[in-house]
Amino acid sequence: MVKKVLKFGGTSVGTTQRIHHVANIIKKEREIGNKIIAVVSAMAGKTNELLSYSKNIDENFEKRELDVLLSSGEQVTCSLLAGALMKLNIEAKSWLNWQIPILTEGEHTNSRIINININKIDEYLNKGVAVVPGFQGISKDGDITTIGRGGSDATAVAIAKIFKADTCEIYTDVDGVYSSDPNKIPVAKKIDKISYDEMLELSSVGAKVMQSSAVQTAMMYDIPLEVRSTFTDRKGTKIFSQENIDYSKSVTGVAYSKDDAKITLIGVEDKPGVAANIFEPLNKNQINVDMVIQNISSDQNTTDITFTIKRDDLVKTKEILKANNKIKYKNISHNDKVAKISIVGAGMVSTPGVTYRMFRGLADSNINILAISTSEIKLSVIIDEEKTLDAVKKLHTIFDLD
Ligand code: ASP
Ligand code: MG
Repeated sequence: MVKKVLKFGGTSVGTTQRIHHVANIIKKEREIGNKIIAVVSAMAGKTNELLSYSKNIDENFEKRELDVLLSSGEQVTCSLLAGALMKLNIEAKSWLNWQIPILTEGEHTNSRIINININKIDEYLNKGVAVVPGFQGISKDGDITTIGRGGSDATAVAIAKIFKADTCEIYTDVDGVYSSDPNKIPVAKKIDKISYDEMLELSSVGAKVMQSSAVQTAMMYDIPLEVRSTFTDRKGTKIFSQENIDYSKSVTGVAYSKDDAKITLIGVEDKPGVAANIFEPLNKNQINVDMVIQNISSDQNTTDITFTIKRDDLVKTKEILKANNKIKYKNISHNDKVAKISIVGAGMVSTPGVTYRMFRGLADSNINILAISTSEIKLSVIIDEEKTLDAVKKLHTIFDLD
């Protein structure tokens, strides 16, 4: 007998028919004697629908009231799932944030869970399924809060931690984490096991299966996760610490994203403090710089500096650079038709030549590299956006992932 947190995302509880289906999944767990806490999202699209109502009232709807509104989506699915379980003669009961309570701190719409009272629920698990809403909490002043979009994953992980659950299973509409985007790369394969670090690197570069901050929490407390599909019986992807994984491949996955832009400052004075003067005001304005490249220019007195930022920040970044009178440069150029292609793999650490093989592969496909960044288990390059799929396919093949 094990204690499990099962989290069901919006599509998994998107219709009443699907809620019946979810109840059947839980029924099987109960039949083998497992203790179950089910964490549910709102029905797919519901949170956006509620948000649009608020905007019809006021574009800047007051945030305390917004939390009252948005948390209602999860209240609906909680009740329906408990009802569907009872219909199958499974004992079940729902609890809302304030009844548990799930205590949060921080601002409305973006709070953090700091404590969950387990007493009532833990005792109840001996006889029935506890159904709990994702995404919502209550502040110490008794106000309803929410913990950021996609927050049900974070709720599930926090509950798994506090209740000392054996596993936390994330039921969703895909059957796991893939070696690349399966919609675009048909030869992509499902990954059976992946480490927290790899999962985080993959999600930071475009593979959106689970909320990153939830994976981070799971890593911090070593809570084993499994991402799996509500709609098939197939095994999902297990996410846990690196020691549990046997690496036969250097690269686990190839991901891409199209939300970066590249800026080049041409002819910048080459003297101490220049880079600091360029990047300090960007930092002050919460603009995140990702990759940086500095070239020595031919005259030895000036240099070109290239860096990448989020595409959404491009206009603001250029304004800040233009207003910055601490730096001198000849010209500024930008390119927002770029893509970031990343290979991720904990096996990279111990395999020599991965960098070279990536660059050679891209060169063979006639793809020009515009910027590079590396971490221990990730290598990212910026390339022309048009070449995205060519690059991903090539790297997927080179690193034996097809
Ligand atoms: N319903 C919330 C949202 O759409 C939370 C979640 O689904 O995880 O953001
Ligand atoms: Mg969701």
